[in-house]
Amino acid sequence: MAALVLFGGGGDLAMRMLLPSLYFLEHDGLLPDGLKIIGAARSEESRDEYVSKVRASVESKAKADDAWSPEAWARMEQRLDYLAVDATSAESLKPLKDKVGEGECTSFLAVSPSLYARIVTAMRAAGLAEPGDRVVLEKPVGRDLQTFSEIDDAVSDAFDEHQVFRIDHYLGKETVQNLIALRFGNTIFEPLWNNLSIDHVQITVGETVGVGDRWPYYDEYGALKDMLQNHMLQLLCLVAMEPPSDLDPDSVRNEKVKVLRSLRRITPEEAERVTVRGQYVAGKSEGEQVPGYDDERGLDSDTETFVAIRADIDNWRWAGVPFFMRTGKRLPEKRTEIVIQFKELPHSIFDNDRGQVTANRLVIELQPQEDISLSVMNKRPGLDQRMQLQPIRMSLSWGQDDKDAKPPRRRIAYERLLLDALNGDSTLFVRRDEAEQAWKWVDEVSQAWTDGNVKPIEYKAGTWGPGEADFLLERTGRAWNTKNG
Ligand code: NAP
Repeated sequence: MAALVLFGGGGDLAMRMLLPSLYFLEHDGLLPDGLKIIGAARSEESRDEYVSKVRASVESKAKADDAWSPEAWARMEQRLDYLAVDATSAESLKPLKDKVGEGECTSFLAVSPSLYARIVTAMRAAGLAEPGDRVVLEKPVGRDLQTFSEIDDAVSDAFDEHQVFRIDHYLGKETVQNLIALRFGNTIFEPLWNNLSIDHVQITVGETVGVGDRWPYYDEYGALKDMLQNHMLQLLCLVAMEPPSDLDPDSVRNEKVKVLRSLRRITPEEAERVTVRGQYVAGKSEGEQVPGYDDERGLDSDTETFVAIRADIDNWRWAGVPFFMRTGKRLPEKRTEIVIQFKELPHSIFDNDRGQVTANRLVIELQPQEDISLSVMNKRPGLDQRMQLQPIRMSLSWGQDDKDAKPPRRRIAYERLLLDALNGDSTLFVRRDEAEQAWKWVDEVSQAWTDGNVKPIEYKAGTWGPGEADFLLERTGRAWNTKNG
Protein backbone atom coordinates (compact mmCIF):
# COMPACT_ATOMS: atom_id res chain seq x y z
CA MET A 1 0.00 0.00 0.00
CA ALA A 2 1.41 3.42 -0.93
CA ALA A 3 1.89 6.24 1.57
CA LEU A 4 2.19 10.00 1.45
CA VAL A 5 4.15 11.41 4.39
CA LEU A 6 3.72 15.11 5.12
CA PHE A 7 6.74 16.22 7.11
CA GLY A 8 5.59 19.41 8.82
CA GLY A 9 2.03 18.03 8.53
CA GLY A 10 0.75 20.48 11.16
CA GLY A 11 2.35 23.59 9.66
CA ASP A 12 0.86 26.43 7.68
CA LEU A 13 1.54 25.05 4.20
CA ALA A 14 0.20 21.59 5.06
CA MET A 15 -2.94 22.86 6.79
CA ARG A 16 -3.77 25.68 4.42
CA MET A 17 -2.83 24.13 1.07
CA LEU A 18 -1.76 20.50 1.04
CA LEU A 19 -4.44 18.81 3.16
CA PRO A 20 -7.32 20.79 1.59
CA SER A 21 -5.92 19.87 -1.84
CA LEU A 22 -5.79 16.20 -0.84
CA TYR A 23 -9.38 16.47 0.32
CA PHE A 24 -10.41 17.92 -3.06
CA LEU A 25 -8.66 15.04 -4.80
CA GLU A 26 -10.49 12.64 -2.50
CA HIS A 27 -13.75 14.41 -3.23
CA ASP A 28 -13.19 13.95 -6.96
CA GLY A 29 -12.19 10.30 -6.54
CA LEU A 30 -8.63 10.93 -7.75
CA LEU A 31 -6.53 9.66 -4.84
CA PRO A 32 -4.94 6.25 -5.42
CA ASP A 33 -6.79 3.38 -3.74
CA GLY A 34 -5.37 2.52 -0.34
CA LEU A 35 -3.08 5.56 -0.13
CA LYS A 36 -2.23 6.39 3.50
CA ILE A 37 -1.63 10.03 4.41
CA ILE A 38 0.64 10.40 7.42
CA GLY A 39 1.33 13.74 9.11
CA ALA A 40 4.77 13.82 10.75
CA ALA A 41 6.07 16.65 12.94
CA ARG A 42 7.69 17.00 16.37
CA SER A 43 4.57 18.03 18.33
CA GLU A 44 3.30 15.25 20.53
CA GLU A 45 -0.32 14.80 19.57
CA SER A 46 -2.67 11.88 19.08
CA ARG A 47 -4.10 10.78 15.76
CA ASP A 48 -7.52 12.02 16.88
CA GLU A 49 -6.20 15.48 17.75
CA TYR A 50 -4.45 15.70 14.41
CA VAL A 51 -7.50 14.51 12.47
CA SER A 52 -9.75 17.09 14.12
CA LYS A 53 -7.25 19.88 13.29
CA VAL A 54 -7.15 18.70 9.68
CA ARG A 55 -10.94 18.53 9.55
CA ALA A 56 -11.33 22.10 10.80
CA SER A 57 -9.03 23.39 8.08
CA VAL A 58 -10.42 21.22 5.29
CA GLU A 59 -14.08 21.75 6.11
CA SER A 60 -13.96 25.54 5.99
CA LYS A 61 -12.08 25.52 2.68
CA ALA A 62 -14.32 22.86 1.16
CA LYS A 63 -17.45 24.74 2.20
CA ALA A 64 -16.08 27.94 0.68
CA ASP A 65 -15.69 26.00 -2.58
CA ASP A 66 -19.08 24.35 -2.23
CA ALA A 67 -17.39 20.95 -2.13
CA TRP A 68 -17.95 19.69 1.42
CA SER A 69 -19.13 16.10 1.45
CA PRO A 70 -19.27 14.10 4.71
CA GLU A 71 -18.77 10.91 2.67
CA ALA A 72 -15.61 12.23 1.03
CA TRP A 73 -14.32 13.40 4.42
CA ALA A 74 -15.06 9.96 5.93
CA ARG A 75 -12.93 8.36 3.20
CA MET A 76 -10.13 10.86 3.78
CA GLU A 77 -10.28 10.44 7.55
CA GLN A 78 -9.69 6.72 7.12
CA ARG A 79 -6.44 7.42 5.31
CA LEU A 80 -5.12 9.91 7.86
CA ASP A 81 -2.60 9.13 10.54
CA TYR A 82 -0.10 11.09 12.60
CA LEU A 83 3.26 10.34 14.14
CA ALA A 84 5.43 12.60 16.28
CA VAL A 85 8.95 12.49 14.83
CA ASP A 86 12.07 14.55 14.62
CA ALA A 87 12.61 14.22 10.90
CA THR A 88 16.31 15.04 11.18
CA SER A 89 16.95 11.87 13.22
CA ALA A 90 17.10 8.45 11.53
CA GLU A 91 16.32 6.78 14.87
CA SER A 92 13.17 8.87 15.23
CA LEU A 93 12.10 8.01 11.65
CA LYS A 94 12.22 4.23 12.15
CA PRO A 95 8.69 3.97 13.63
CA LEU A 96 7.53 6.06 10.66
CA LYS A 97 9.07 3.56 8.27
CA ASP A 98 7.13 0.83 10.14
CA LYS A 99 3.91 2.78 9.69
CA VAL A 100 4.60 3.31 5.99
CA GLY A 101 5.23 -0.41 5.50
CA GLU A 102 6.61 -1.91 2.33
CA GLY A 103 4.68 0.15 -0.24
CA GLU A 104 6.04 3.14 -2.16
CA CYS A 105 6.42 6.27 -0.07
CA THR A 106 6.17 9.86 -1.30
CA SER A 107 7.52 12.30 1.30
CA PHE A 108 6.56 15.97 1.09
CA LEU A 109 8.98 18.21 2.99
CA ALA A 110 6.67 20.99 4.24
CA VAL A 111 9.32 22.18 6.70
CA SER A 112 11.99 24.84 6.72
CA PRO A 113 14.45 24.30 3.81
CA SER A 114 17.29 24.68 6.32
CA LEU A 115 16.35 21.14 7.45
CA TYR A 116 16.18 19.54 4.00
CA ALA A 117 19.75 18.20 3.91
CA ARG A 118 19.54 16.64 7.38
CA ILE A 119 16.08 15.23 6.75
CA VAL A 120 16.93 13.46 3.47
CA THR A 121 20.05 12.01 5.08
CA ALA A 122 17.96 10.66 7.97
CA MET A 123 15.32 9.37 5.54
CA ARG A 124 17.92 7.43 3.65
CA ALA A 125 19.23 5.83 6.85
CA ALA A 126 15.68 4.98 7.97
CA GLY A 127 14.76 3.25 4.68
CA LEU A 128 12.48 6.01 3.39
CA ALA A 129 14.55 6.62 0.27
CA GLU A 130 14.23 3.23 -1.42
CA PRO A 131 14.11 2.92 -5.24
CA GLY A 132 10.30 3.36 -5.56
CA ASP A 133 10.15 6.25 -3.08
CA ARG A 134 9.94 9.94 -3.93
CA VAL A 135 10.62 13.24 -2.24
CA VAL A 136 8.84 16.54 -2.88
CA LEU A 137 10.70 19.76 -2.04
CA GLU A 138 9.11 23.16 -1.58
CA LYS A 139 10.93 26.32 -2.62
CA PRO A 140 13.12 28.01 -1.64
CA VAL A 141 15.91 25.48 -1.97
CA GLY A 142 18.95 27.58 -1.10
CA ARG A 143 19.64 31.30 -1.26
CA ASP A 144 22.07 31.11 -4.17
CA LEU A 145 23.74 28.54 -6.40
CA GLN A 146 26.16 27.48 -3.69
CA THR A 147 23.60 26.90 -0.94
CA PHE A 148 21.24 25.28 -3.45
CA SER A 149 24.02 22.88 -4.48
CA GLU A 150 24.87 22.04 -0.88
CA ILE A 151 21.26 21.04 -0.15
CA ASP A 152 20.81 19.30 -3.47
CA ASP A 153 24.03 17.30 -3.06
CA ALA A 154 22.51 15.81 0.11
CA VAL A 155 19.26 15.16 -1.78
CA SER A 156 21.05 13.41 -4.61
CA ASP A 157 23.07 11.29 -2.16
CA ALA A 158 19.73 9.92 -0.94
CA PHE A 159 17.58 9.93 -4.10
CA ASP A 160 18.08 9.59 -7.84
CA GLU A 161 17.02 12.65 -9.84
CA HIS A 162 13.87 10.91 -11.15
CA GLN A 163 12.73 10.46 -7.52
CA VAL A 164 13.06 14.19 -6.71
CA PHE A 165 10.10 16.55 -7.28
CA ARG A 166 11.00 20.23 -6.84
CA ILE A 167 7.75 22.17 -6.67
CA ASP A 168 7.10 25.45 -8.36
CA HIS A 169 3.41 25.80 -7.77
CA TYR A 170 3.00 28.21 -10.68
CA LEU A 171 3.54 25.23 -12.97
CA GLY A 172 0.48 23.55 -11.46
CA LYS A 173 -1.81 26.37 -12.53
CA GLU A 174 -4.37 25.50 -15.18
CA THR A 175 -3.52 28.53 -17.28
CA VAL A 176 0.17 27.69 -17.34
CA GLN A 177 -0.65 24.26 -18.71
CA ASN A 178 -3.10 25.94 -21.04
CA LEU A 179 -0.21 27.97 -22.40
CA ILE A 180 1.43 24.69 -23.44
CA ALA A 181 -1.87 23.60 -25.02
CA LEU A 182 -2.22 26.94 -26.79
CA ARG A 183 1.31 26.91 -28.19
CA PHE A 184 1.55 23.27 -29.19
CA GLY A 185 -2.08 22.24 -29.70
CA ASN A 186 -2.74 24.84 -32.40
CA THR A 187 -1.05 25.59 -35.67
CA ILE A 188 -1.94 29.28 -35.75
CA PHE A 189 0.35 30.59 -33.00
CA GLU A 190 3.64 28.81 -33.47
CA PRO A 191 4.51 30.36 -36.88
CA LEU A 192 4.09 33.79 -35.24
CA TRP A 193 5.91 32.89 -32.03
CA ASN A 194 9.23 34.55 -32.81
CA ASN A 195 11.01 37.82 -33.42
CA LEU A 196 9.33 38.35 -36.81
CA SER A 197 5.90 38.87 -35.25
CA ILE A 198 6.43 39.47 -31.53
CA ASP A 199 7.66 42.84 -30.35
CA HIS A 200 8.25 41.97 -26.71
CA VAL A 201 6.98 39.90 -23.78
CA GLN A 202 5.99 41.11 -20.31
CA ILE A 203 5.65 39.05 -17.16
CA THR A 204 4.10 40.77 -14.15
CA VAL A 205 3.55 39.30 -10.69
CA GLY A 206 1.93 42.02 -8.58
CA GLU A 207 1.05 41.55 -4.93
CA THR A 208 -0.86 44.04 -2.79
CA VAL A 209 0.33 42.55 0.51
CA GLY A 210 3.44 43.77 2.27
CA VAL A 211 6.13 41.56 3.73
CA GLY A 212 4.62 41.88 7.22
CA ASP A 213 5.91 39.33 9.71
CA ARG A 214 7.56 37.25 6.97
CA TRP A 215 10.52 39.63 6.94
CA PRO A 216 12.99 37.36 8.84
CA TYR A 217 12.76 35.09 5.79
CA TYR A 218 12.15 37.76 3.17
CA ASP A 219 14.98 40.05 4.16
CA GLU A 220 17.51 37.34 3.23
CA TYR A 221 15.91 36.83 -0.19
CA GLY A 222 14.20 39.89 -1.64
CA ALA A 223 11.98 39.96 -4.71
CA LEU A 224 14.69 38.73 -7.10
CA LYS A 225 15.30 35.46 -5.24
CA ASP A 226 11.82 35.00 -3.77
CA MET A 227 9.86 35.35 -7.03
CA LEU A 228 11.96 35.91 -10.11
CA GLN A 229 14.49 33.08 -9.68
CA ASN A 230 11.74 30.50 -9.63
CA HIS A 231 8.18 31.39 -10.68
CA MET A 232 8.96 34.10 -13.21
CA LEU A 233 11.85 32.35 -14.92
CA GLN A 234 9.70 29.23 -15.16
CA LEU A 235 7.00 31.25 -16.93
CA LEU A 236 9.61 32.80 -19.21
CA CYS A 237 10.85 29.31 -20.11
CA LEU A 238 7.39 28.09 -21.06
CA VAL A 239 6.85 31.10 -23.31
CA ALA A 240 10.27 30.94 -24.91
CA MET A 241 11.08 27.22 -25.19
CA GLU A 242 11.25 25.38 -28.51
CA PRO A 243 8.51 22.81 -29.13
CA PRO A 244 9.48 19.61 -27.28
CA SER A 245 9.14 16.40 -29.27
CA ASP A 246 6.65 15.03 -26.73
CA LEU A 247 5.35 15.74 -23.23
CA ASP A 248 7.84 13.43 -21.60
CA PRO A 249 9.24 15.17 -18.47
CA ASP A 250 12.76 15.28 -19.81
CA SER A 251 11.74 16.44 -23.28
CA VAL A 252 10.01 19.48 -21.78
CA ARG A 253 12.70 20.20 -19.23
CA ASN A 254 15.50 19.87 -21.81
CA GLU A 255 13.86 22.70 -23.77
CA LYS A 256 13.39 24.85 -20.67
CA VAL A 257 17.00 24.51 -19.63
CA LYS A 258 18.16 25.59 -23.13
CA VAL A 259 16.24 28.84 -22.64
CA LEU A 260 17.89 29.45 -19.28
CA ARG A 261 21.29 28.82 -20.84
CA SER A 262 20.50 31.39 -23.55
CA LEU A 263 19.67 34.21 -21.13
CA ARG A 264 22.11 37.04 -21.69
CA ARG A 265 24.28 37.67 -18.63
CA ILE A 266 23.68 40.92 -16.83
CA THR A 267 27.05 42.48 -16.14
CA PRO A 268 27.74 45.14 -13.47
CA GLU A 269 28.01 47.71 -16.32
CA GLU A 270 24.57 46.70 -17.62
CA ALA A 271 22.82 46.31 -14.27
CA GLU A 272 21.75 49.91 -13.87
CA ARG A 273 20.34 50.03 -17.42
CA VAL A 274 18.36 46.78 -17.47
CA THR A 275 17.34 46.24 -13.84
CA VAL A 276 15.36 48.28 -11.30
CA ARG A 277 15.36 47.54 -7.58
CA GLY A 278 12.71 49.07 -5.38
CA GLN A 279 11.58 49.09 -1.77
CA TYR A 280 8.18 50.29 -0.59
CA VAL A 281 7.78 53.14 1.84
CA ALA A 282 4.58 54.09 3.68
CA GLY A 283 1.59 54.75 1.48
CA LYS A 284 -1.98 53.74 0.77
CA SER A 285 -2.70 50.16 -0.11
CA GLU A 286 -6.25 49.07 -0.90
CA GLY A 287 -7.60 52.21 0.78
CA GLU A 288 -5.58 51.84 3.98
CA GLN A 289 -2.51 53.65 5.19
CA VAL A 290 0.29 51.06 5.50
CA PRO A 291 3.86 51.28 6.83
CA GLY A 292 7.00 51.03 4.74
CA TYR A 293 9.23 47.95 4.67
CA ASP A 294 11.87 49.41 6.97
CA ASP A 295 9.16 50.45 9.47
CA GLU A 296 7.78 46.91 9.51
CA ARG A 297 11.24 45.54 9.97
CA GLY A 298 12.28 48.16 12.53
CA LEU A 299 15.71 48.44 10.88
CA ASP A 300 17.15 49.89 7.70
CA SER A 301 17.46 47.25 5.02
CA ASP A 302 18.83 47.12 1.48
CA THR A 303 16.53 44.26 0.47
CA GLU A 304 14.39 44.92 -2.59
CA THR A 305 10.63 44.39 -2.39
CA PHE A 306 10.31 45.19 -6.10
CA VAL A 307 12.35 44.19 -9.09
CA ALA A 308 11.98 44.90 -12.80
CA ILE A 309 14.36 43.36 -15.31
CA ARG A 310 14.82 43.37 -19.03
CA ALA A 311 16.01 39.90 -20.03
CA ASP A 312 17.30 39.05 -23.49
CA ILE A 313 17.40 35.55 -24.88
CA ASP A 314 20.32 35.09 -27.22
CA ASN A 315 19.03 32.63 -29.79
CA TRP A 316 17.57 32.79 -33.31
CA ARG A 317 13.94 32.80 -32.25
CA TRP A 318 14.15 35.61 -29.73
CA ALA A 319 17.00 37.84 -30.88
CA GLY A 320 15.82 41.45 -30.46
CA VAL A 321 12.71 40.55 -28.42
CA PRO A 322 13.07 41.82 -24.86
CA PHE A 323 11.35 39.96 -22.01
CA PHE A 324 10.37 42.49 -19.35
CA MET A 325 9.65 41.06 -15.90
CA ARG A 326 8.46 42.91 -12.81
CA THR A 327 7.28 41.77 -9.42
CA GLY A 328 6.74 43.46 -6.11
CA LYS A 329 4.93 43.76 -2.83
CA ARG A 330 2.46 46.56 -2.02
CA LEU A 331 1.61 47.13 -5.67
CA PRO A 332 -1.86 48.44 -6.59
CA GLU A 333 -3.19 45.07 -7.81
CA LYS A 334 -2.80 41.39 -7.13
CA ARG A 335 -2.20 40.49 -10.73
CA THR A 336 -0.09 37.83 -12.43
CA GLU A 337 0.03 37.90 -16.19
CA ILE A 338 2.12 37.18 -19.23
CA VAL A 339 1.67 39.57 -22.13
CA ILE A 340 2.75 38.62 -25.63
CA GLN A 341 2.88 41.91 -27.49
CA PHE A 342 2.77 41.51 -31.26
CA LYS A 343 4.32 44.04 -33.62
CA GLU A 344 2.61 47.13 -34.95
CA LEU A 345 1.09 47.11 -38.43
CA PRO A 346 3.81 47.70 -41.02
CA HIS A 347 1.40 50.00 -42.89
CA SER A 348 -2.14 51.13 -42.12
CA ILE A 349 -4.79 51.42 -44.82
CA PHE A 350 -7.20 53.10 -42.43
CA ASP A 351 -6.85 56.73 -43.47
CA ASN A 352 -3.18 56.17 -42.85
CA ASP A 353 -3.98 56.67 -39.16
CA ARG A 354 -1.90 54.11 -37.37
CA GLY A 355 -3.04 55.56 -34.06
CA GLN A 356 -6.41 53.99 -34.69
CA VAL A 357 -4.95 50.53 -34.65
CA THR A 358 -3.45 48.89 -31.59
CA ALA A 359 -1.14 45.97 -32.09
CA ASN A 360 -2.42 42.51 -31.20
CA ARG A 361 -1.80 41.41 -27.67
CA LEU A 362 -2.17 37.99 -26.13
CA VAL A 363 -2.71 38.23 -22.36
CA ILE A 364 -2.31 35.12 -20.26
CA GLU A 365 -3.73 35.97 -16.86
CA LEU A 366 -2.95 33.71 -13.91
CA GLN A 367 -4.32 35.90 -11.13
CA PRO A 368 -6.82 37.08 -9.96
CA GLN A 369 -8.67 35.18 -12.74
CA GLU A 370 -7.23 32.42 -14.89
CA ASP A 371 -7.90 33.54 -18.44
CA ILE A 372 -6.27 33.84 -21.84
CA SER A 373 -7.41 36.60 -24.17
CA LEU A 374 -6.32 37.92 -27.53
CA SER A 375 -6.99 41.49 -28.54
CA VAL A 376 -7.78 41.93 -32.22
CA MET A 377 -8.94 44.93 -34.21
CA ASN A 378 -12.53 45.05 -35.30
CA LYS A 379 -14.75 47.42 -37.23
CA ARG A 380 -16.86 49.62 -35.02
CA PRO A 381 -20.44 48.99 -36.20
CA GLY A 382 -22.13 51.91 -37.91
CA LEU A 383 -22.39 53.94 -41.10
CA ASP A 384 -19.42 56.26 -40.55
CA GLN A 385 -17.87 57.09 -43.90
CA ARG A 386 -14.44 56.72 -42.44
CA MET A 387 -14.06 53.18 -41.18
CA GLN A 388 -13.65 53.22 -37.41
CA LEU A 389 -11.70 50.46 -35.74
CA GLN A 390 -11.78 49.24 -32.17
CA PRO A 391 -9.86 46.56 -30.29
CA ILE A 392 -11.94 43.69 -28.97
CA ARG A 393 -10.85 40.93 -26.67
CA MET A 394 -11.43 37.30 -27.54
CA SER A 395 -11.30 34.96 -24.57
CA LEU A 396 -9.45 31.76 -25.41
CA SER A 397 -9.99 30.11 -22.04
CA TRP A 398 -11.74 27.06 -20.77
CA GLY A 399 -15.49 26.91 -20.71
CA GLN A 400 -16.38 29.15 -23.63
CA ASP A 401 -18.23 26.36 -25.46
CA ASP A 402 -18.89 24.19 -22.46
CA LYS A 403 -21.89 25.41 -20.50
CA ASP A 404 -21.27 22.90 -17.69
CA ALA A 405 -17.64 23.87 -17.14
CA LYS A 406 -16.87 25.30 -13.71
CA PRO A 407 -14.09 27.76 -12.96
CA PRO A 408 -10.93 26.04 -11.74
CA ARG A 409 -10.67 25.86 -7.97
CA ARG A 410 -8.22 28.14 -6.25
CA ARG A 411 -6.04 25.39 -4.86
CA ILE A 412 -5.95 23.42 -8.08
CA ALA A 413 -2.21 24.02 -8.55
CA TYR A 414 -1.33 21.94 -5.50
CA GLU A 415 -3.93 19.33 -6.46
CA ARG A 416 -2.31 18.89 -9.86
CA LEU A 417 1.20 18.72 -8.42
CA LEU A 418 0.35 16.35 -5.56
CA LEU A 419 -1.39 14.05 -7.98
CA ASP A 420 1.52 14.13 -10.43
CA ALA A 421 4.04 13.46 -7.64
CA LEU A 422 1.96 10.51 -6.42
CA ASN A 423 1.87 9.18 -9.98
CA GLY A 424 5.59 9.81 -10.53
CA ASP A 425 5.08 12.32 -13.37
CA SER A 426 7.73 15.04 -13.06
CA THR A 427 6.86 17.11 -16.17
CA LEU A 428 5.63 20.03 -14.04
CA PHE A 429 8.52 19.90 -11.59
CA VAL A 430 11.90 21.60 -11.76
CA ARG A 431 14.94 19.50 -12.64
CA ARG A 432 18.22 20.10 -10.87
CA ASP A 433 19.99 21.62 -13.87
CA GLU A 434 17.09 24.06 -14.43
CA ALA A 435 17.29 25.30 -10.85
CA GLU A 436 21.08 25.57 -11.15
CA GLN A 437 20.91 27.62 -14.36
CA ALA A 438 18.26 29.90 -12.86
CA TRP A 439 20.39 30.46 -9.76
CA LYS A 440 23.46 31.10 -11.88
CA TRP A 441 21.73 33.88 -13.81
CA VAL A 442 20.13 35.39 -10.72
CA ASP A 443 23.39 35.22 -8.74
CA GLU A 444 25.04 37.29 -11.45
CA VAL A 445 22.31 39.93 -11.23
CA SER A 446 22.69 39.99 -7.47
CA GLN A 447 26.49 40.24 -7.77
CA ALA A 448 26.14 43.02 -10.34
CA TRP A 449 24.03 44.98 -7.83
CA THR A 450 26.65 44.49 -5.14
CA ASP A 451 29.55 45.41 -7.43
CA GLY A 452 27.73 48.41 -8.87
CA ASN A 453 26.40 49.47 -5.43
CA VAL A 454 22.85 49.44 -6.84
CA LYS A 455 20.49 50.19 -3.94
CA PRO A 456 16.69 49.87 -3.95
CA ILE A 457 14.80 52.98 -5.01
CA GLU A 458 11.89 53.98 -2.79
CA TYR A 459 8.34 53.62 -4.09
CA LYS A 460 5.14 54.47 -2.30
CA ALA A 461 3.02 51.51 -1.20
CA GLY A 462 0.08 51.24 -3.57
CA THR A 463 2.03 52.25 -6.70
CA TRP A 464 3.55 50.17 -9.51
CA GLY A 465 7.09 50.48 -8.16
CA PRO A 466 9.68 53.17 -8.87
CA GLY A 467 9.18 55.34 -11.96
CA GLU A 468 12.43 53.85 -13.30
CA ALA A 469 10.49 50.62 -13.94
CA ASP A 470 8.23 52.49 -16.37
CA PHE A 471 11.24 54.14 -17.91
CA LEU A 472 12.77 50.70 -18.54
CA LEU A 473 10.09 50.23 -21.21
CA GLU A 474 9.42 53.85 -22.15
CA ARG A 475 12.93 54.46 -23.37
CA THR A 476 12.38 51.69 -25.91
CA GLY A 477 8.98 53.14 -26.93
CA ARG A 478 6.97 50.56 -24.95
CA ALA A 479 4.74 50.54 -21.88
CA TRP A 480 3.60 48.05 -19.25
CA ASN A 481 0.19 46.57 -19.86
CA THR A 482 -2.55 48.14 -17.78
CA LYS A 483 -5.58 46.26 -16.52
CA ASN A 484 -7.82 47.41 -19.29
CA GLY A 485 -5.10 48.02 -21.78
P1 NAP B 1 5.53 26.24 9.41
O1 NAP B 1 4.13 26.69 9.55
O2 NAP B 1 6.58 26.81 10.32
O3 NAP B 1 5.53 24.66 9.55
C1 NAP B 1 6.70 23.91 9.71
C2 NAP B 1 6.33 22.53 10.17
O4 NAP B 1 7.53 21.79 10.31
C3 NAP B 1 5.62 22.48 11.50
O5 NAP B 1 4.55 21.54 11.38
C4 NAP B 1 6.68 21.95 12.45
O6 NAP B 1 6.00 21.27 13.46
C5 NAP B 1 7.47 21.04 11.50
N1 NAP B 1 8.84 20.76 11.92
C6 NAP B 1 9.82 21.63 12.27
N2 NAP B 1 10.95 20.97 12.57
C7 NAP B 1 10.69 19.65 12.40
C8 NAP B 1 11.46 18.47 12.54
N3 NAP B 1 12.75 18.50 12.94
N4 NAP B 1 10.88 17.28 12.29
C9 NAP B 1 9.59 17.23 11.87
N5 NAP B 1 8.81 18.31 11.71
C10 NAP B 1 9.36 19.51 11.97
O7 NAP B 1 6.10 26.47 7.94
P2 NAP B 1 5.25 26.55 6.55
O8 NAP B 1 4.83 27.95 6.34
O9 NAP B 1 4.23 25.48 6.54
O10 NAP B 1 6.40 26.28 5.48
C11 NAP B 1 6.91 24.98 5.22
C12 NAP B 1 7.72 25.01 3.94
O11 NAP B 1 6.92 25.39 2.85
C13 NAP B 1 8.87 26.00 3.95
O12 NAP B 1 9.87 25.46 3.12
C14 NAP B 1 8.29 27.23 3.27
O13 NAP B 1 9.28 28.04 2.71
C15 NAP B 1 7.46 26.55 2.21
N6 NAP B 1 6.36 27.35 1.71
C16 NAP B 1 5.34 27.73 2.52
C17 NAP B 1 4.26 28.43 2.01
C18 NAP B 1 3.09 28.82 2.86
O14 NAP B 1 2.13 29.33 2.29
N7 NAP B 1 3.12 28.61 4.16
C19 NAP B 1 4.24 28.79 0.64
C20 NAP B 1 5.31 28.39 -0.17
C21 NAP B 1 6.36 27.67 0.38
P3 NAP B 1 6.62 20.93 14.90
O15 NAP B 1 7.04 22.20 15.51
O16 NAP B 1 5.49 20.23 15.58
O17 NAP B 1 7.77 20.02 14.61
